[in-house]
Amino acid sequence: MTNVKAPIVDHYDKVAFYRDSDSSRLTRFTDESRTVTVNFDENWISDLKRRVFNDNRRLFRDFDYNWALEDQNFSTPMEQYIQLKLLDVLADVSPDHPNYLKFGNICFRISNTANMNAESFTSESYKYVCVTSAYVKYIKEFLYTFFEIYAKSGADNASSGRKRTSGQAVYDELSRRPLEHETSLARLIHTGFSYSRYKIPLDLAPPVWNHPLFGEHIKAEYGPLIIGADLFLALHELGHILEHTFKSTRRNHREEIEADRAASSLFLIASARDPVLASVHARAPALAFSVLRHFNMIRRVAKIVDKSISDPDQMAGELEEERLLLQRVQVYRNFVADNFMARDFADAYWSGLDDFFVLIAASQVWLLRWAGQRTKLSDLIKRPSRAKHPEATR
Ligand SMILES: [Zn+2]
Repeated sequence: MTNVKAPIVDHYDKVAFYRDSDSSRLTRFTDESRTVTVNFDENWISDLKRRVFNDNRRLFRDFDYNWALEDQNFSTPMEQYIQLKLLDVLADVSPDHPNYLKFGNICFRISNTANMNAESFTSESYKYVCVTSAYVKYIKEFLYTFFEIYAKSGADNASSGRKRTSGQAVYDELSRRPLEHETSLARLIHTGFSYSRYKIPLDLAPPVWNHPLFGEHIKAEYGPLIIGADLFLALHELGHILEHTFKSTRRNHREEIEADRAASSLFLIASARDPVLASVHARAPALAFSVLRHFNMIRRVAKIVDKSISDPDQMAGELEEERLLLQRVQVYRNFVADNFMARDFADAYWSGLDDFFVLIAASQVWLLRWAGQRTKLSDLIKRPSRAKHPEATR
């Protein structure tokens, strides 16, 4: 084993430099040097390496992925973990898949930037799935805030036999003692405002693992949910790589729906191979969508406050984007529920959306109070409806 980086990684580093110089591109690099902190047991990675590359799987005979075993090709364990998960999923897809030839040379990167984004692109013969560190951190901040309020409600220690954290407990706690949670909410919203302006937040949540208030339910859900939501984003981008040709303009709504559909099948494969992911296979996508809606809402308010949206047409465009995202949230349910596990999935997915919506609603209340008359509730966000969505293809 050498310390030389694989060509696919080396190429990314070179391309990233040029992409950085073009401010219209999605990845805007800033000095985001603090590492993504999700607790990773070293054994997870070595176990995963063994499991993924084990039984002489066809993918690894057809394509060279040995570079993914070498630690020097990754900047964090999280990056390597997601890369290995993507390979684990791809190796399980039948070689008869119409896009099987595209399965080679796919590299996952976490780019260190304060621009909250996920994207995929191809360069020469290489394909890249990128999630930014800001996105990974925002998911963490959102979930941390949710769990912090939940923990203070005392529900985590109640011997109620409850198996999951719940939005109801968070809602009750927020209603009972609103002032108690100002700091938590403010920190989350500050993070959203910072990333809206491509700045690094001043204050991020502390490491979660040893939090004195976090009890069993939280600890059982926190890591899997974070990893599941990150993986879901990566699988969505992998969906674009497999289903679409690369283009530098924005993806249209139909392509987003198709990538969600691909992500739903791929996530199911990932869950089938990993009980930890299986435990969050409905709630992790619910978290990923909720976090994106939360961030978009804050970005919208930031634009109003910064007066970078002044005319009603621009606002209408922003709200149209929100409407389409809400449609994706609802259509996603159809993919999995109709094709695979019907009601169980749908229930867990909706309860996840409901739970996380409590935090979105609390943030809205905070924003309305803070931004005063400059924002209206209608500029913010709606709760997803449980009704089955007529599948959108526009
Ligand atoms: Zn997409």
